[in-house]
Amino acid sequence: MRNLKFGVCLLALFAGAAPAGAETTILKNVTVIDGTGAPALPDAAIVMTDGKIAWVGPVSGLKAPKDAKVEDLSGKFVMPGIIDSHVHVGMMHDVTQDEKYETPQNVQADLKQYAAYGVTTVQVLGTDKDFVLEMRNQQRKSRPTVARIFSAGQGAVIKGGYGGLVGVTEPIATPEEGRKLVDEQAAKGVDFIKLWMDDERKTIPVKMPYSVSAAIIDEAHKKHLRTVAHIFYLDDAKELVREGIDGFAHMVRDQPVDAEFLDMMKAKGVWMVSPTLSREMAYSLAVMPWLNDPFFTRGVTPGTVAALRSMAREQAVVLGLTRFPGLPYEKKVFWDMDRTLFQTLENYQAMVKAGVKTGMGTDSGPNGRFPGFNAHEEMQLQVLAGRTPMDAIKSATHDNAEWLKDPMIGSIEKNKWADLLVLDKNPLDDIRNTETIAAVYMAGQPVPTIWTSCRDRAESQCPKRPADLPNMPY
Ligand SMILES: [Zn+2]
Repeated sequence: MRNLKFGVCLLALFAGAAPAGAETTILKNVTVIDGTGAPALPDAAIVMTDGKIAWVGPVSGLKAPKDAKVEDLSGKFVMPGIIDSHVHVGMMHDVTQDEKYETPQNVQADLKQYAAYGVTTVQVLGTDKDFVLEMRNQQRKSRPTVARIFSAGQGAVIKGGYGGLVGVTEPIATPEEGRKLVDEQAAKGVDFIKLWMDDERKTIPVKMPYSVSAAIIDEAHKKHLRTVAHIFYLDDAKELVREGIDGFAHMVRDQPVDAEFLDMMKAKGVWMVSPTLSREMAYSLAVMPWLNDPFFTRGVTPGTVAALRSMAREQAVVLGLTRFPGLPYEKKVFWDMDRTLFQTLENYQAMVKAGVKTGMGTDSGPNGRFPGFNAHEEMQLQVLAGRTPMDAIKSATHDNAEWLKDPMIGSIEKNKWADLLVLDKNPLDDIRNTETIAAVYMAGQPVPTIWTSCRDRAESQCPKRPADLPNMPY
């Protein structure tokens, strides 16, 4: 009897047959950009069975199961779903940021929006309520139709200092409290530990002391968790590398990175997880150039567009002092931000040239940075900084999956989840062509895209897709 069962198993194995009831969809006649940096494969097909990639290769080698659904996508391009390694979810209503908006409904809407823009996985850095971890757990047991979550739970903010989300993150004051926070987060099952070390250009008198960051990193490593730090200053970044930090959530922005720092990062394998070029870009633009671009306006609420276009915003944000919820001070948002943007781009170039491991992350979610939209901006800025479109795609897919240590996502390879972005135009010709979204697949299932759905309103109420994408909003 036992042998018989064994025999049946073997038979199934050798036949290579999909299990009974398997659901198979084939994307045919596409050019595959697999995310690994390998040359694009024209005239290709992807076989997706039960949400996973069962086969990828030239159409000439395709063996289609009889009952497979075949999509002829002649002329289109397929790349892996984008991974954004630095976001915050559910904290906004229009242009107002508050923890009370972090509801399951709003988080779900953000995750749906990420997927609509082709961002099929996000790493949330330190502002999650506990229910987000529960959502993540549910996703991992199923085939999600919205962006996959990696979560750093509630990050470490020093009392009176910069970072976190008031009402969600509980500030700490001592190394002991730092260790306690890590233990609590570890018990909740977070994927990473986040900490903030910044004083907003010396406008805040308190910054996380090195004794506290060292304790957090040490405790996290004891719990087998990696640590990611928000930084601004080169000196802090160097100290954190000495303390064993695993990755940075932003670029060094106060001065040029030096050889000592680059060597330290490489020697210890420290990642620039999310260079957040688009964040610095957003802060350098007093007037946003994309307010009439449907690729942007379809992805934000009507209230957001109205607020961003209003004269009141110009007066309050562009020239005046602004008080942000939770910050104990007012600041001129755009003051001196051009210099920060250029420093960020230069340091990004230096890290890439030196061979430091770099990912793609935007810090979208908070006010002024937009879920999904910013990921496309970020890749465009990588190219502006001198990378090839192929590199930008690789960093946003394969490399980010490497950082997350998730072998199931990030490239179009056999046995991985079929999280895919289908494009009308070739992103290798022009990285802005990632905006020509024809379809998005999450675990093998098509989901609404930014061109078939819009945020918080019926599709019929939204500006139409321009005929000549990508358009230049500037
Ligand atoms: Zn952030």
